[in-house]
Amino acid sequence: MSHESPRATPQASLERWLSSPRIEPLPPRAPRAPAPAISFEFFPPKTEALETQLWSCIRRLEPLGPQFVSVTYGAGGSTQERTHATVTRLVRETVLTPAAHLTCVGASRGEVDDVARRYWDAGVRHIVALRGDPPSKAPYQPHPEGYEYAADLVAGLKRVADFDISVAAYPETHAQAASAAADLDNLKRKLDAGASRAISQVFFETGNFLDFLDRALAAGITAPIIPGIMPVSNFAQAKRISEMGGTYVPGWMAEMFDGLDEDAETRQMVAASIAAEQVRTLQANGIDEFHFYTLNRADLTYAIARILGVKAREDSASFFEKKEAKKL
Ligand SMILES: Cc1cc2nc3c(=O)[nH]c(=O)nc-3n(C[C@H](O)[C@H](O)[C@H](O)COP(=O)(O)OP(=O)(O)OC[C@H]3O[C@@H](n4cnc5c(N)ncnc54)[C@H](O)[C@@H]3O)c2cc1C
Repeated sequence: MSHESPRATPQASLERWLSSPRIEPLPPRAPRAPAPAISFEFFPPKTEALETQLWSCIRRLEPLGPQFVSVTYGAGGSTQERTHATVTRLVRETVLTPAAHLTCVGASRGEVDDVARRYWDAGVRHIVALRGDPPSKAPYQPHPEGYEYAADLVAGLKRVADFDISVAAYPETHAQAASAAADLDNLKRKLDAGASRAISQVFFETGNFLDFLDRALAAGITAPIIPGIMPVSNFAQAKRISEMGGTYVPGWMAEMFDGLDEDAETRQMVAASIAAEQVRTLQANGIDEFHFYTLNRADLTYAIARILGVKAREDSASFFEKKEAKKL
């Protein structure tokens, strides 16, 4: 019995080979090039089981020596206490540099400033400053006594203390922006107000991010714009998150995951291959800093960091012990 499709005749295969473009493989990382800088995003856990999962993820990724690790702030500030608890535990129990996400939606300037002051007093020096979205799908309305946009929040935070501030950037343009150019102006305002870098919204079409960097540069933005990488193994979940944030989910990606809903093992391999290709393409284009949306899972992020050339530090096993010893 033959499974040969009509297209797989030797003649057709030969014709396809002869008529196809010759595509070079992605170049390997230069032998002595420094490993890229990486950072990780976590979300604050809701339950004890999720807390255990988060901390096993943190312990696995900690030896990779990230520049910082950030903890998200639930819609409308709904996780204020849990975000604070996770960030301050990171300060107390790890050698990592935590960054607390902070949004201004639905809160007065005084309330936001108080949250920021609590972070400063707890030793947190890095804030990811965001406008946030209303918890319902209602159109955004600034709080009558609040910061109106993230740029105002950045300026306000700088008045509270000399925080290191990151802001959000949108390679495929924020959904509520008047235009792509207006969105870039907004990014520039956030940086001019005191932010040191931007972290990008997740994207799957790598070319969209590279085009965005060119446009940002043309608009006079020279601060680092770190690509936000989401290694996707739960496609349905990633699609939901992506679409909420206005990220384009390409057809080729849906096709790769099609029919794999019940096959977690293969999904994991497909996910690793997609993310590896994405980061290697970015690296080949000169990108040397990456932010991973970990979704509180270490495995894919760890593997992709490895592919980028990041290795666990040799003294990693004693990280925590050293920090404890420092306190004695
Ligand atoms: C890296 C990253 C991390 C995130 N973390 C969180 C989180 O922890 N918690 C959370 O709730 N959300 C988070 N978000 C989502 C974010 O809150 C939403 O995308 C939100 O809709 C916009 O926030 P922003 O800080 O980009 O807002 P802004 O920079 O204020 O921009 C919002 C919109 O307003 C427009 N705009 C800005 N200024 C003006 C102006 N003066 N006049 C007219 N239009 C203007 C902009 O072009 C844009 O369309 C994150 C997003 C990213 C990319």
